[in-house]
Amino acid sequence: MKPLAQKIWFNGHLTAWENCTVHVMSHALHYGTSVFEGIRVYDTPNGPCGFRLTDHVRRLHDSARIYHFPMPYSVEELVQACRDTVASEGLKSAYIRPLAFLGACGMGVTPSPDAIKTDIMIAAFPWGAYLGEEALEKGVDACVSSWNRVAPNTIPSGAKAGGNYLSGYLIGREARTGGYGEGIALGADGLLSEGAGENLFVVRDHVLMTPPSSSSILQGITRDSVIKLARGLGYEVREQSMTRESLYVADEVFMTGTAAEITPVRSVDGIPTRAAGPGPVTKAVNKAFRGLFDGSTPDRYGWLEPIHQS
Ligand code: PMP
Repeated sequence: MKPLAQKIWFNGHLTAWENCTVHVMSHALHYGTSVFEGIRVYDTPNGPCGFRLTDHVRRLHDSARIYHFPMPYSVEELVQACRDTVASEGLKSAYIRPLAFLGACGMGVTPSPDAIKTDIMIAAFPWGAYLGEEALEKGVDACVSSWNRVAPNTIPSGAKAGGNYLSGYLIGREARTGGYGEGIALGADGLLSEGAGENLFVVRDHVLMTPPSSSSILQGITRDSVIKLARGLGYEVREQSMTRESLYVADEVFMTGTAAEITPVRSVDGIPTRAAGPGPVTKAVNKAFRGLFDGSTPDRYGWLEPIHQS
């Protein structure tokens, strides 16, 4: 892999890329015991800002808590470490990837609490449109996956843990093998859940609907931002369970995520949405979202957190 960054913050120090190595016996490598975040930094008129940086780091702490991983750094310390990492790379816009994982702490699935040590790394690097520029502009062709999302009380979907992404990997792989841009999964109850790495919105008659937190989703920070922005624009937004067929009769469908931002879905399983691309509601919400970063949407909630503090 070509280096994505000069230095990575690794257990408290900005360390040269080539020295950020882990042992092959690391617990996380064998058992998926890691939690992570994805955070975008936008180049705004007030300089580079992390979008809801603190909320992301809080979710990292929450994910670690769910798995009983001790966290050697506070939320505030990790927020600062994210800032330092972006600043050291001299980036104006970036994707930040913090990861906390169990290292070489024994071969048992449940290492003794005295042996557990959580390692933490933070890398910052440029990352463009997750599903491609064309997807952002024109929309992605999605399919409903044959793989269901994890059922409640199996693996917690509310924690952003490395192991969860085996599910995302299968959903994404199946979609791409079938010639689709992204896969949408149903929950164990057969109702709509989320995309491989994105939350889902369905629009009908100018009402936005998104599966509720009880539907085996990651409660996305972009999802929450879109709900607030759309309500601010006067739209009705409902967090409600939906059937698969609601995708086929939708006016518009879009997906949200830090990496995917707001990606319109133009067809599902070969059936075009009525808008057959980004419709008026998707466009309006996207305009409000993008406007946060060029200053045309007021940052009412203090979501933009400057990287360089005065
Ligand atoms: N669901 C899954 C499974 C994801 O991986 C992501 C991306 N983090 C999301 C939803 C969207 O979450 P967020 O908006 O916080 O990035």
